[in-house]
Amino acid sequence: MATNITWHPNLTHEERSLLRKQQGVTVWLTGLSASGKSTIACALEQSILNRGLNSYRLDGDNVRFGLNKDLGFSEADRNENIRRISEVAKLFSDSCCVTVTSFISPYKADRRLARELHEKDNLPFVEVYVDVPIEVAEQRDPKGLYKKAKEGIIKEFTGISAPYEAPEKPEIHIENHSGLTVEQAAEQIIDYLLEKKYIS
Ligand code: ADP
Repeated sequence: MATNITWHPNLTHEERSLLRKQQGVTVWLTGLSASGKSTIACALEQSILNRGLNSYRLDGDNVRFGLNKDLGFSEADRNENIRRISEVAKLFSDSCCVTVTSFISPYKADRRLARELHEKDNLPFVEVYVDVPIEVAEQRDPKGLYKKAKEGIIKEFTGISAPYEAPEKPEIHIENHSGLTVEQAAEQIIDYLLEKKYIS
């Protein structure tokens, strides 16, 4: 733990928002693997960029190629994965970006920590539960991960050999199956952001 460090005061978020003409907000997608998080996150980011606003997506696999390449999938490593992402998402949001994260983030305690980190600095945090029955996720399985998990090739796989703790009161609940299109799912989030005046 570093000791000889000093916090340097920054512009407040309000001052920065006025100058940037945009607020920061973190849209935190959570759900099983193959529930559709990355697909929805891409559509959402694109839709916000198309409105002339800044948006950036932090994606599960991508972050593990760089920032978190030293981490695996044990509970401790998953906690640390989410802790680092929460801090990075907070920085992006503080810079007045619509930050979209798409991580399984299976543990309630980790998501609570992400929320608390944001809310203590008055940055809005929008939890989005991308909900599909596990049978649907298993059928989609675009990377063949459920198959490998069931064969025991992948250990500690969420929904098969590791828990997924569903959110109880997410700001947005997307039932991403039975005919809902990706555009409709992204639209559900856009409508919420507009209603809360996080974007205009
Ligand atoms: P995750 O990021 O949650 O692992 P992905 O975004 O990679 O999931 O999506 C998994 C698969 O499900 C992809 O093949 C994607 O095209 C498909 N998919 C996502 N949303 C829908 C939807 N609403 N209807 C049908 N298929 C979907």
